[in-house]
Amino acid sequence: MELNFAHLYGDLMNTYGDLGNILVLKYYAEQLGIKVNVDLVSLDTPFDANKYHFVLFGGGQDYEQVVISKDIQNKADSLTNYIENGGPLLAVCGGYQLLGQYYIGAHGEKIPGISALSHYTLSQDHNRFIGNIEIHNDAFDENYYGFENHNGMTFLGDEEQPLGHVVSGHGNNGQDGTEGAIYKNTFCSYFHGPILTHNAPITRRLLKAAIHAADPDADLTPVDELDIQNAAVDVPEAKHNF
Ligand code: GLN
Repeated sequence: MELNFAHLYGDLMNTYGDLGNILVLKYYAEQLGIKVNVDLVSLDTPFDANKYHFVLFGGGQDYEQVVISKDIQNKADSLTNYIENGGPLLAVCGGYQLLGQYYIGAHGEKIPGISALSHYTLSQDHNRFIGNIEIHNDAFDENYYGFENHNGMTFLGDEEQPLGHVVSGHGNNGQDGTEGAIYKNTFCSYFHGPILTHNAPITRRLLKAAIHAADPDADLTPVDELDIQNAAVDVPEAKHNF
């Protein structure tokens, strides 16, 4: 079996090492004897919704988001089709924001998203949500651990479930206790870096969805046997507000 991964705007949305999620998923797929091909899909490159079995859309900075906001409108239909057809996708922070309706940047500029999902993102004055975060997913009864760093405050649409409820940290907006979003096989989060190294349930779910997308008859049980870490990374507590 071969899996095709797309790193959406990976040359622009790469500030926080979210690329690690592709490397991790590729590593575990290869442990199962699966070959993984990774394409960078960036400016002026069409997104082929039928080709890919996993998409990563990482975080970045407002400047890059403005540039991407224009180009991604050309990919809006194909990305929306991919999401609606249950394609596995992990979107982090700025990528998460651009899948929604719009993002109000730190200087008040309205940056259009593609409205593939119905969340929207406001900005906060002179503050960022930065620090370690733990959340709990009620539907799966699972805890996830990460590090957040964002100005944006995201509010979910009706069709979206949160990735989890905040146990400690800020989450989507610091107000309603939600963090991230789930819609079909699209997972969104403000967790930066290679979160799939230490959130085994999400890693397994995405890998199973990718394998299933490539071959609906594939046996998914080997994914459960992979040794994937599931614990908070042991770093000193970081709570800074600027
Ligand atoms: N510019 C966005 C924000 O601050 C996204 C930042 C990011 O991807 N970390 O909310």
